[in-house]
Amino acid sequence: MNRLLRTIVLGGALLASMPGQALATKVVVDPGHGGKDPGAHGVNGLNEKDVALDIADRLRDELVRRGYEAVMTRTDDTYVALADRVDFTNRQGADLFVSVHANWYKNPAANGTMVLYYDDSAPQADYPASDSMKALTPESRTLAQDVLDSFVGSVGTANLGLTKSAVYVVRMGSIPSILVETAFLSNASDASLLADPGVREKMAVAIERGIEAYKPPGFADLAGHWARDAVLRLKERGIVEGVGSSFQPDRAMTRAEFVTMLDRAFKLPEPCKVTANGGDGAAVGSREVVSGGGVAASGGTAGNGGGLAAIGGTAGSGGGVAASGGLRVAAVVL
Ligand code: ZN
Repeated sequence: MNRLLRTIVLGGALLASMPGQALATKVVVDPGHGGKDPGAHGVNGLNEKDVALDIADRLRDELVRRGYEAVMTRTDDTYVALADRVDFTNRQGADLFVSVHANWYKNPAANGTMVLYYDDSAPQADYPASDSMKALTPESRTLAQDVLDSFVGSVGTANLGLTKSAVYVVRMGSIPSILVETAFLSNASDASLLADPGVREKMAVAIERGIEAYKPPGFADLAGHWARDAVLRLKERGIVEGVGSSFQPDRAMTRAEFVTMLDRAFKLPEPCKVTANGGDGAAVGSREVVSGGGVAASGGTAGNGGGLAAIGGTAGSGGGVAASGGLRVAAVVL
């Protein structure tokens, strides 16, 4: 969302006209460790708790400069238990949770940036996640990717990717949550970056820009809908799609959409030839199915992997593939 829009939203002017729109306006910033828990100890003598607090301070300031509300789980060198961090966060009515850490590894060559989030595709039996965090997997992953991209693009650290993690603070909350491992205190080059106030500022700004880039992956018209979680799970797996920011959860499904969903879901080993004769109000002309089992509309050609010729808006004359009596399908929405 651009800054102007967010500012207006913060003012409340657009809230009434944008129901269900998940707008990130309040962020919980969580500096890792603190007090009796110093975190990692750097090759240059830095303690993780101090680096994390400094970057988190800068992140909070940058968020506020850009129009967000930001609160911190600690503002000085005190110990805060992990459960207390999450309890605090749950009381804030915030939109996002971002924890700031520095990494450490026994091999001093290891360097770079990674972002941790809880992913329900990789649950850990001994560390079960809250129901909220299970359902928020797509949101947390999207936020993690946005922040990682911004961070490595701006700071220039090595991109170590996203990490599916069961660490407490990203597993037990109730809002999209990530943990940024900024750089390695066990690596001389990374540690010198972490010791540089200018680089810390750059890291904080990069995290903020990633937060700013974040847009919830769901659909605006699914907010509060009983099928929301199922739709998002299937979207994550590439089985259903929407159009722009809407899903149209209550409109009827076409036969073509149904077949394509089945095809995507089951990925049948044999190419599935589908041909249909006229006489049922279906398409005229050649109907061709290429590999993967799509359905072509009126002379169109379905693509590989279960695509539909009608996607993109070309259901043909004479009714296309819609089941409902010759309804013309402008765009197949799955
Ligand atoms: Zn840490």
